[in-house]
Parts: sequence; C-alpha cells; structure tokens
Amino acid sequence: ASRLSMSSRPGGSRASDEDSKTAVKVAIRVRPALQPNDPGYDLIPQRFQKSAVQVMSPTSLAVDSPQGKKIFVFDRVFSEKVEQDGVWEYLQESVSAFVQGYNVSLLAYGQSGAGKSYTMGTASPGDSSSHGIIPRAAHALFEHLGAPPSGARGSSGLRAPVRYSQIGSPKQVVNKAWSIKATYVEIYNESLRDLLINETSMHDRPQVNIREDKSGRILLTGLHELEINSYEELMLALTFGSSIRQTDATAINAKSSRSHAVFSLNLVQKKPRPQTDKEKRNSLPLDMMAQGSEAGYITVDSKLHFVDLAGSERLKNTMAQGERAKEGISINAGLASLGKVISQLSSRHPGSHVSYRDSKLTRLLQDSLGGNAITYMVACVTPAEFHLSETLNTVQYAQRARAIQSKPRIQQV
Ligand code: ADP
Ligand code: MG
Repeated sequence: ASRLSMSSRPGGSRASDEDSKTAVKVAIRVRPALQPNDPGYDLIPQRFQKSAVQVMSPTSLAVDSPQGKKIFVFDRVFSEKVEQDGVWEYLQESVSAFVQGYNVSLLAYGQSGAGKSYTMGTASPGDSSSHGIIPRAAHALFEHLGAPPSGARGSSGLRAPVRYSQIGSPKQVVNKAWSIKATYVEIYNESLRDLLINETSMHDRPQVNIREDKSGRILLTGLHELEINSYEELMLALTFGSSIRQTDATAINAKSSRSHAVFSLNLVQKKPRPQTDKEKRNSLPLDMMAQGSEAGYITVDSKLHFVDLAGSERLKNTMAQGERAKEGISINAGLASLGKVISQLSSRHPGSHVSYRDSKLTRLLQDSLGGNAITYMVACVTPAEFHLSETLNTVQYAQRARAIQSKPRIQQV
C-alpha cells in the first residue's frame, strides 16, 4: 500500500504517525465572530451572539449542544485566530502528493457565511495575506515544478475585471516536462455549467457531460480546458470563472450558495522511469502510471480538485415550494451523497459498492475520492450561538466523513 493511503490495521487505531496519513482528512475551521460593522451582525439578537464553540486543542472542539457540551475530535481544528497561512500550512502536503501523481480533492463544507469561499480562495483575491487555498496551492505547484516566475501579465491584472480574451496561455509551450489544464464548473440543480466561457455565449453554452473511460478515469465533455503555464495564468482563470459564477444568475446570492463550484487542474508530467530500489519505493504504484510511455520515461497524470461546496443549511419550511424546493432537494442530495460516498470509502470494504452515481458532484469527483486518491475536507463553522444548530449539523457531517476509519469495524457474529 502506498504511504499516503489509509491504514487497514485490525482495530483501526490511529496511534502512529504513519497511520495518521489516512485518505480522508477532516479539519474544522471556526471563523471569527461577526463584528458590529459586518453585514448580518444586526440580524442576530445580542443574546445569541456569544460563542457556542470552543477549540480545546489543535484536534478537538467542544460544542455547547442543547444536550450539554459535546467534544469532537478531528485531524485538525483551526480556531478563529488561525489565518489563511495557518490553514495552508496544514494542507500544503496536498500539492506535493498531486505533483507525485496522486489525485487530490480539497473540499470546503459548511453553512453559507461560514467561510467556505474565503477558505478555498474562490472569493475575489485581495492582498496575498488573505489568499485562500487555491492561490497558495497554485504558488506551491509552480514552485514544485520549477517554473520560472513569469510576471508577464503581473498580478495587478487581478483587480480589474478579467475578460475572456485574457485567460488561457497565449503561447503553446512544447517539450516541457509537464503540462497543466484547468477547468472550472458549477454544479447547480444537478446540471453542470462551464465557468470558463465567453461572457457573450453564456446563455448558449454546450451541455457538459461526465463520462468514464476504460481505466476508470473521469472525463468531462463540452467544457473549456485552459492550458496554464504560470501562477498568473491560473489566477486569471480562477478570477474570471469566479466572476462568471457571481454574475450568471437572476437570484445571485441565493444561487451561488446553492451551487458547488469545482476548479480543477490536470497535470501531466514526463518523468524518468524509476531505476533504483529507492526510486521505486518513492514512486507511485506502477498501476497509476500511464502505459505506452517513451523508453526510459513514464507519464504521470494527476488531478487536483478545489471544491467550494454549496451551503449546507437546511431549507426553511416556508421556502420548500416549487422551484426553490427542487433546488434545495437537489443540493442536499449532492452534499448527502458526498457524505455517503466518503463514509463508504472510509469503511473500506474491498470491492463494495460506492454510490458515486447518486449525484453529479460525486460522479465528477469519482476518480479523485477513494482508491489511491487523497481527500481533505475543511468544514467551516460560525461560532455564534445563533447558528448552533447548523454548526452542530456541520460538525456531525464532518465527523461522519471521518469517523468510520478511526473506529474498528463491528464484527458481525
Ligand atoms: P461562504 O462561502 O461559506 O458562504 P464566505 O467565505 O463568503 O462564506 O464568508 C463570508 C464573509 O466572512 C466574507 O466576507 C469573508 O471574507 C468573511 N470571512 C469568512 N471566514 C473568515 C475568516 N476566517 N477570517 C476573516 N474573514 C472571514
Ligand atoms: Mg461562498
């Protein structure tokens, strides 16, 4: 088994360092309390603004539930004092794994306003200290690949609106040891929409479909794939797609909180074939490498998905009518099937069925969840007591995503 895959030792204890490298890692991030001049502050009655969560340690969280204080243990718990660089420090190994050839998914979960987009970095970039996961991962990625800083189209371009003609690499680079393609899709109401599409053809876009090739690789058709050669190009694509997500709606806020946004990178690398025993040990399992490579070289193909999930809040009864109800049910189905798939993967019953086909989201992520893939979930919560029931839901969802792997399987007798 690879070093990064899940341990299946009897009893499933997670005592050693090696064992903590499980295939699904779940972190909680507690956002700072709303301040009096933050939007939404006035909506919360004073007596409900006090915090209902306490970070007990870097891996445990206490929640004041109506049944009393409950303690939850995660791979990591970030308090409101942990800033973007602290979260990234924990996640940076994901980019090393991606460059090694693993498929990786990074997921942000939680109720609207809890900090998913801020954490993932799909919100507008701002200054670099507030950069979320995607810009930091992009930076680390090009550093790993040894790409020279291009600077040609500088980061100043990010503040102005980005136009379609600006995205994608202006030049076809050949004979590189690697190539990167980016896609950016939104899943809304179980249909996929390309976010890297010309503003003018927004209402007339091709149908995006998900299919699976013979080797189990998930392919998307009808989607723009941008060749990306630098950090700046990646940021332009991200910023452009995020702005399309914002403007492409009649009920903007309601919609973006109900849709999943998936920014994905596909990295193809030409690497020297491992020769010595040590090189072979440090390399990927051979079945993960593409066949038909040149003599002396292997082709390593990997994916990195950044997923800004739909808001996890439950629909209010009054809204459960007509179109709204359909949306709500559909989004909940996506989050519900994601939770189910992660649980199924964690319980790791070899050969057992995994319900990837239950939703577009899990289908899209199929080759990047489970198997040799590595998944990180950051579940975002708001500390105020006002949001206690959603916070409890989020923490329990996150716990389910993680719990089964750390508990021994119950033997049927
Ligand atoms: P979501 O995507 O979950 O709906 P956002 O990421 O848009 O939530 O966060 C809502 C607001 O709170 C944004 O203005 C964001 O900048 C701010 N925010 C969220 N988390 C943090 C944090 N950890 N530190 C500072 N500001 C935050
Ligand atoms: Mg958001």
